[in-house]
Amino acid sequence: MIVKVCIDAGHGGKDPGAVGSTVEEKWVALDVTMRVAVKLQNSGIDVVMTRDSDQFVALDDRAKIANSKGADIFISIHCNSSSPEACGTEAWVFPREDKDHRLADCILQKIVERTGFKNRYTKQDNLAVLRLTKMPAVLVELGFISNPQEEQIMKTYDYQDQVSTAIVEGIKLYAGIPLEMTNQYSYDDTVNNMVIDGVTTTDNMAYWEQVLAGNTSARADYIRSILKRYQDLLRR
Ligand SMILES: [Zn+2]
Repeated sequence: MIVKVCIDAGHGGKDPGAVGSTVEEKWVALDVTMRVAVKLQNSGIDVVMTRDSDQFVALDDRAKIANSKGADIFISIHCNSSSPEACGTEAWVFPREDKDHRLADCILQKIVERTGFKNRYTKQDNLAVLRLTKMPAVLVELGFISNPQEEQIMKTYDYQDQVSTAIVEGIKLYAGIPLEMTNQYSYDDTVNNMVIDGVTTTDNMAYWEQVLAGNTSARADYIRSILKRYQDLLRR
């Protein structure tokens, strides 16, 4: 049973990862990871993140976080780089049990369905984060930042929304969780209740999706202002 997922946004801080003409891998990885986190939580699945800001985290520390928090699966999110013609999505697993392989295949299947990116399938390699993690572990290369077309697509809100939904669907497919199953309190309910309580006037979900996927200090500011309004409400 999958109750806790560790999502690992590749690179960060002094390590930009692959550098495209207008975007760096570390930012795409972080944006997609934040969206995956929100969507998993909305499905009632616990999330551990190895970073939730532009921060450098060593590879062995990433595995240590997943192991010490008792994650059931580990998903590392990256973008590929090669010649400008190379395109498509692929996944990497450590050469061991086939659990990892099946998880990778489920995620790729859903990514291809939702983004139309070419399936380059699952491959094996002795990568540190895959070797050191004790649970089924997959490294996903979303697409090629070195391919001008894929770079443009991967920057967009629409793509990041679709690919993050696909990753969550892939996890659910692997775990045998119905795709439509959601938490008792989805954040749609939470937002609706905040509108009813008069602490926000915005019930536009696209807006909240952006707020929740934003950088840590912006999210902290929103949470602070929401808490302040609830406090004022209670004092009335
Ligand atoms: Zn990478």
